[in-house]
Amino acid sequence: MKYLKRIVAGLLVAGTISGFSAQNVYALEDKKALLGNLTNELETVSVLRQESETQLEMNLKEIEKLNRDREIYRIRAEYLRSNIEETMKKGEMLDEKNPNIIQAALLTLTNGYLEMELADILIAIHSSAEEFEQYQEKEIRKDDKEAIREGLQEKLSKLEEDLAQVEEILSNGASRSTELLTFNGELSVKITEVETQSETLSAQKTKVEEEIRVEEEKRKQQELERKRATTFIRPASGRLTSGYGNRIHPVTRRRAFHAGIDIANSRGTSILASRNGKVTFAGYKGTYGKLIIVNHGNGIETAYAHLSSINVKVGQSVTQGNVIGKMGSTGRSTGSHLHFEIRMGGSTVNPSKYIK
Ligand SMILES: [Zn+2]
Repeated sequence: MKYLKRIVAGLLVAGTISGFSAQNVYALEDKKALLGNLTNELETVSVLRQESETQLEMNLKEIEKLNRDREIYRIRAEYLRSNIEETMKKGEMLDEKNPNIIQAALLTLTNGYLEMELADILIAIHSSAEEFEQYQEKEIRKDDKEAIREGLQEKLSKLEEDLAQVEEILSNGASRSTELLTFNGELSVKITEVETQSETLSAQKTKVEEEIRVEEEKRKQQELERKRATTFIRPASGRLTSGYGNRIHPVTRRRAFHAGIDIANSRGTSILASRNGKVTFAGYKGTYGKLIIVNHGNGIETAYAHLSSINVKVGQSVTQGNVIGKMGSTGRSTGSHLHFEIRMGGSTVNPSKYIK
């Protein structure tokens, strides 16, 4: 009963927590703790069920053995009863033959009495009723008769004592059987209860597992969103042909500051938004050629230059990884490549330091 009370209490707590969790009050960690509790409770219930079933099985075996034993004792009791009956019958037979005084005197004179040795007396006491009949046809001396009668009485007492013992064993066996049957009835009820608990707990567990799965999926999405909004990715595949900083300009052949990085690849290569943001410029702008500028908030911008085509419009929101244009060689350019810039608070920074 202690087990069941604990399980019921557990279910109440589980129900309450789960009810609240639907409103997202409880954190993922609490749900995981709840799942752990439910798993433990299920284990407890399973052990309890196993124990109950083992006990039930043991009881059934004991009942079987009791039934077999009782059958043996019933046969023994039957034998004792018929033996008692036979012994009493022999006593009666002994009484039937009672010569009167004159007959007795005559028999004494003619020595017509049966001469009985102790062995004969013992045989008479322990013979069957049929065998005993032969003694009836003979005349038995009074003292021999007394000895037989005493022997029969003694035998009867012993048999009755044995029978009382056997009957007590039978009665105890019947009580124990009844007790075990009652116990098994209780165990069956308990097993049914435990099965119900197990089903309820399993359903609860499945529900919590699903809630955890949904919550974890949600968190993964949030993490992905956070990443898209706070990190930079490489905006195009290709070869890095020029880094950020001072260099000899490939067109002017003069020493000049390079405000971004160049990634070279074939014309038409996809240009990806490096980070979540909003398009603030999409058009042609002097030496940049076809240019896209994306604002990422907090004074952060990215610029994509020399494009062959532009896929977005000013004001459009873009997600990190979205294709926003195609690589080209518009503006001041010597071949198909992307000029990529990152600007923070109005100044350019080295994109290679930020690209993950
Ligand atoms: Zn460049």
